Amino acid sequence: MHYLRTYTEIDLQAIQQNAEAIKKHTGKKLIAVIKADAYGHGAVRVAEVLDATADMFAVATVEEGIALRQADIHKPILVLFSSLPTQAAPILEYGLTPTIGDWEFSKALNEVASTKVHVNINTGMNRSGVYYTEAMTFFSKLKTLHRLEVEGLFTHLATADEADKSFVSVQLKRFASILANVDGKMVHAANSAAALSVPESYFDGVRPGLSLYGVYPATEKPILLKPALTWKTHVGWIGSISEAEGVSYGLTYKARHQTRVAMVQIGYGDGYPCALSNSGEVLIGGARRPITGRVCMDVSVVRLDPSDNVSVGDEVVLIGKQGDAEITVDEVAHRAGTISYEILTQIGTRVKRIFNC
Ligand SMILES: *Cc1c(COP(=O)(O)O)cnc(C)c1O
Repeated sequence: MHYLRTYTEIDLQAIQQNAEAIKKHTGKKLIAVIKADAYGHGAVRVAEVLDATADMFAVATVEEGIALRQADIHKPILVLFSSLPTQAAPILEYGLTPTIGDWEFSKALNEVASTKVHVNINTGMNRSGVYYTEAMTFFSKLKTLHRLEVEGLFTHLATADEADKSFVSVQLKRFASILANVDGKMVHAANSAAALSVPESYFDGVRPGLSLYGVYPATEKPILLKPALTWKTHVGWIGSISEAEGVSYGLTYKARHQTRVAMVQIGYGDGYPCALSNSGEVLIGGARRPITGRVCMDVSVVRLDPSDNVSVGDEVVLIGKQGDAEITVDEVAHRAGTISYEILTQIGTRVKRIFNC
């Protein structure tokens, strides 16, 4: 194979199996969330592999939906956020299913063409949607927009990944107060955390993202999910530094004795967090080795053990397995002081994706 500096390997079969497992666990329709390029896994290939399992796809932006249509994805695609009035035309031109959560955008859609819509009910997330106490008024006003057919109704939970599910109950109660008055719609609320652990949130369909990729949103693990992404790079240089010498910008690491170090070809320019400076670990030769000094834009330095038999060009695993050792997305996120979602979606454009199927 030709030279690749750093790359991710995407296990499409794992994604397919995770989707099947979630569908079996919930027994409901699957709205597969593939926004942000399928959380860094490649939206088109993920959509292709989930075509038979997913009932619908969901994206965050109009552009993401258009890219899927241009790649011949024909399943319904829900755009999760209500868009600007100027985006009504492209949404309908590409046959995407819009979410409505305000009057202006609803009116703009109605002026362009007939379409199915999903109504986002704000039950406490407070970032989008029609506030639940105003939903009935909104629905009756909506009846004057004759070209809009309300196919679905949804809400989004703010705390489903927390152990304390009390606000989840509050949101579901608020949502239920609306559902009592509108029937025959496709109702959905559950993100990954709720799809795994809150059966009362299932309704007609579930809307998981993160879990499709084999990453758990919370500490609860009620079903077995397989991580789909492995991130690799290579050793680019090996050196030895004397006692009291520093490493990388700012010399934030000082060698206490003669130390062998390896430069690895990964940096924040690839989406490898700067926050892993002096705190991350990578796998080389099946062993964990610590990031030493600051992560640079293009490279980082790790400390080797004197006994390590490492050569330039050796494989380095940043996320995934090497031999018996494994570094999970959650571990990287924790060490970087962020969430797994951010680690996955920040993997940069210099990182080539290789699909295994
Ligand atoms: C991102 C998103 C999801 C998926 O959330 P996960 O936690 O990744 O499962 C579901 N619904 C909405 C509205 C979202 O924005």
